[in-house]
Amino acid sequence: MKVIEHLEAATDPLISFEIIPPMRGGSLESLLGLIEDLAAHRPPFIDITSHAAEAIYEETPTGVRKRVKRKRPGTLGICALIQHKYGIDAVPHVLCEGFTREETEDFLIELHYLGIDNVLAIRGDESSHRKELEHGRSRNEYASDLVSQIGDMNKAVFLEELLDATPTDFCVGVAGYPEKHFEAPNLAADVARVQQKLDAGASYVVTQMFFDNDHYFRFVEECRNQGITAPIIPGIKVLTTKRHLTSIPSTFHCDVPTALADEVAAAPDNDAVREIGVEWAAAQSRALLDAGVPSVHYYVMGNARAINALIPRIGL
Ligand code: FAD
Repeated sequence: MKVIEHLEAATDPLISFEIIPPMRGGSLESLLGLIEDLAAHRPPFIDITSHAAEAIYEETPTGVRKRVKRKRPGTLGICALIQHKYGIDAVPHVLCEGFTREETEDFLIELHYLGIDNVLAIRGDESSHRKELEHGRSRNEYASDLVSQIGDMNKAVFLEELLDATPTDFCVGVAGYPEKHFEAPNLAADVARVQQKLDAGASYVVTQMFFDNDHYFRFVEECRNQGITAPIIPGIKVLTTKRHLTSIPSTFHCDVPTALADEVAAAPDNDAVREIGVEWAAAQSRALLDAGVPSVHYYVMGNARAINALIPRIGL
């Protein structure tokens, strides 16, 4: 079932999760354990992130050596597991950065044959490795270009003209930023880019994480003022370690409110931090659900411990 159909059919608010593939060489057992933990909360869909190749520099006896590798492969396999072993709709993230349009078309064909017809179309951040475009290859620069490519495939328009091509049937989600994307000049301009992605064929928006619901409500207001009517799913992350106080703002460009930051800084250890983070995220979730959001999306990444503690506290 499509994400948009889940949202439209829901009589109660939904919850969904986002996980990250393990580092190269990660164990299948721990991945299955994570999915089983999440499946127990009966999410209608689970997102799986994608990661571009990065350049890694190593010192060797003969000098510095550059290697290019994907640290977290496996998005396609994990999607197949979630969709077919657990019967939960998988939502792979599809990136512009790191992939040519030709590779993207191939990836989407794999998904189509696997019966996976939901994707989140994302630009990706500039990677330390940008491969040269070979002759005849092309690149999507912005997420809206990627949404257009997927929209074309949904109309049986592939990169080369094909006789008797059959259309794909993808439901496409895109990202939104309650505290604005860090490259955008202001929130209104950034929201106009969200509108562009929806105009290109996306059906719904999932937001970047935020720790103060006012950011989400202001973002939704700006979207509605600009005429956006698509569902806007809030993204929530549980803060679980003291290190998150610096890594989250620098990586995701979002504020940690003073009250939360002070409480975490004063916590004796990371068990106490997790409890503070769970309670904060539970309070955020309850307030969002009370305000009538269509669904809450949790950034689980690789460990379900905090989510297992949180879900029973949100009263769904
Ligand atoms: P875009 O929508 O393309 O926007 C990027 C910036 O360009 C914005 O500032 C926008 O205002 C501006 N812009 C857009 N179109 C134009 C235009 N035509 N001309 C000029 N400016 C324009 N990263 C990963 O590597 N893997 C993942 O799986 C992943 N999943 C994510 C999931 C969610 C829900 C979110 C919120 C983020 C995710 N990210 C992921 C991070 C994402 O790659 C970065 O935030 C990236 O910098 C922007 O991606 P985007 O799709 O929002 O880009």
